[in-house]
Amino acid sequence: STDSTTVTFPTVRTEYPAVKKLNPLNKKRILVTGGAGFVGSHLVDRLMLMGHDVICIDNFFTGTKSNVSNWIGHPNFELIRHDVVDPIMVEVDQVYHLACPASPVHYQSNPVKTLKTGFFGTYNMLGLSKRVKARFLLASTSEIYGSPAEHPQQEEYWGHVNPIGPRACYDEGKRVAEALTYSYSRQDGVDVRVARIFNTFGPRMNWNDGRVVSNFILQALRGEEVTIYGDGEATRSFQYIHDLVDGLIALMESDCKEPVNLGNPDEFTINEFAETVSRIVREVGGKVKGEGEVRIKHLPPVEDDPQRRRPDIERAKEKIGWEPKVSVLDGLRETVLYFKRTLEE
Ligand code: NAD
Ligand code: UDP
Repeated sequence: STDSTTVTFPTVRTEYPAVKKLNPLNKKRILVTGGAGFVGSHLVDRLMLMGHDVICIDNFFTGTKSNVSNWIGHPNFELIRHDVVDPIMVEVDQVYHLACPASPVHYQSNPVKTLKTGFFGTYNMLGLSKRVKARFLLASTSEIYGSPAEHPQQEEYWGHVNPIGPRACYDEGKRVAEALTYSYSRQDGVDVRVARIFNTFGPRMNWNDGRVVSNFILQALRGEEVTIYGDGEATRSFQYIHDLVDGLIALMESDCKEPVNLGNPDEFTINEFAETVSRIVREVGGKVKGEGEVRIKHLPPVEDDPQRRRPDIERAKEKIGWEPKVSVLDGLRETVLYFKRTLEE
């Protein structure tokens, strides 16, 4: 079908891209760890709309039940409160392993737990995949490239990571998760996929996670000054959540066992991004004060802040036939509307 499907959530209606219903013979049992989080809940929505059987595991550290509440009670859906640092037995055909806090504020609040999640969480999910012969996909990150000395970042690049800095618990946790993934592939023949995800935004992202997209949108909507850390000349590339979900599913269904960058190569300096967010907030009738002018507050730079980040997505195009379809501006409009509705409620 080419019709788009509308799902009703307690706090927001999210317009979904056309979702093709499965041939029932291709229905799979799919485990999504971290399924109650931002990315995980959108992936769960898509897999459910396709007609799969979905098990969602989450410890609700940064995710919430309300992110998946519209599926509770559906015969194809099961929600399990569980911490992936502990083993679990379920029988599935595919595992999307997303469980891990993603924002610096959250992952630095308990760095030892973040490292345990990176190692033991991935170890347990790989062990499960080995036992039940499931295909395993790791949600890795552009952070494994650290503060990159090469630009844009290709998958061959080994990265430039500070192993002892405040971001190390996350970056090195994901690097060891990748190392474990390929070790299980070599040693035990586990069928693996690795997605290196670049900054992603959209409805249902955690709005107090201290990241740039949520901070800027909230500050602009509340008419507050936009906080820029350092000189604002660092760059990031932002992709919209629906593109990422397309990419994760395309990668899982592909034959590509190498790591694949999933991101939008459209690169902004943080200064440009502040300007863009403020403009969109004004467009949708938000509360930014001062016509045409963005009120900026410069704060000290954060330690180990990567200065440049942009994905090279040639491998994704070639091997999994994927590239982003939603422009940053369109994605931001959706996200600003979502934050506005949520604030109003
Ligand atoms: P999120 O914080 O919204 O989601 C993570 C989910 O995992 C939450 O629901 C949380 O409760 C759960 N979780 C955390 N630790 C757990 C544990 N030990 N056991 C069980 N559940 C646990 O973050 P997100 O943005 O949805 O990120 C999802 C995945 O994608 C993460 O692995 C993250 O590293 C990766 N990623 C995200 C981005 C991004 O920009 N959002 C970029 C790169 C990589
Ligand atoms: N940043 C900023 N102001 C904010 C939040 C973030 O200037 O209120 C900057 C931050 O220093 C970094 C970029 O925006 O250069 C992206 O930061 P974020 O924490 O969103 O994600 P990261 O890509 O660093 O994990």
